[in-house]
Amino acid sequence: MIVNPPPWPKGAKCAVAFSFDVDADSVVHNTKRKMILNHQHEIAQMRYDPFVALPRLANLFGSNEIPVTWFVPGWVIEKYAKQLEALLKFKNEIAHHGYYHELPNEQNIEQEREALYSGIEKIHSFKGSNPVGYRAPYYGVSESTYNLLIEAGMEYDSSLFADDIPIIIHNGSGSIIELPVPATIDDYNQYVSSKSFDYLMKVSSPQTALEVYKAEFDAMWEFGGLWICVWHPAVSGRPAQSVAIRKLLDYMIKKEKVWFATHQEVADHVNGLIKTKKWKPRVERIPFYNQPILK
Ligand SMILES: [Zn+2]
Repeated sequence: MIVNPPPWPKGAKCAVAFSFDVDADSVVHNTKRKMILNHQHEIAQMRYDPFVALPRLANLFGSNEIPVTWFVPGWVIEKYAKQLEALLKFKNEIAHHGYYHELPNEQNIEQEREALYSGIEKIHSFKGSNPVGYRAPYYGVSESTYNLLIEAGMEYDSSLFADDIPIIIHNGSGSIIELPVPATIDDYNQYVSSKSFDYLMKVSSPQTALEVYKAEFDAMWEFGGLWICVWHPAVSGRPAQSVAIRKLLDYMIKKEKVWFATHQEVADHVNGLIKTKKWKPRVERIPFYNQPILK
């Protein structure tokens, strides 16, 4: 069971919010730096994002009228604006995912602020409005991240494995909605084994990954939770893996009483419930600790 699940719109049993992190080759530039010219293989692998996977995925979700939230680094928006336009044709949300996919908890506060505002600016120039949501690259939330997101007026974050339903993160002067992610449905865990990306997992078949995704979904449906995936176009947008997604969509649609929404719609819904006092989420006060427990 889930203690105190929120009421979902139209009597839905659970909410489903698909999300993809469109890192493209920002991660390669950021991790290889001056050695980048000797990493053509990795660049090509990540350019699969905009050139091959995005059109396929945009079509798959669009033809099923299922909304998706795309977390995109600012540099990727600038570099691949033409390819990303495919996302604006459907009911999609573009959200923030750093500028060069920097690791926030390795930046100082000024560097982190600079990446945040530069990313906001790029998304604004791309779609005509500011993003309202954020996911930390590598889930690398720093001690400053939530303060900066609240300062920038962000409505939600989706970086933590903190709960099965939305919670509130409060820093004493302001708050932000957290849309938590189940660790098990990050597609890197299922499909990626790469020395270059320092990620060595046992590679699952699409069928095995599908079983994991379905099991998470069935439990959220039974208990009234929020199902969110963290997928990547170059990982899950390949032919066999995208067939698994199509099967998952069919399964979810047939199950009925599922609310498919963007992350922004989920956050708006939660804000509405709080304002009308129809539901009270759990509140986490940050920082969790003011100083290290062990020295
Ligand atoms: Zn990422």
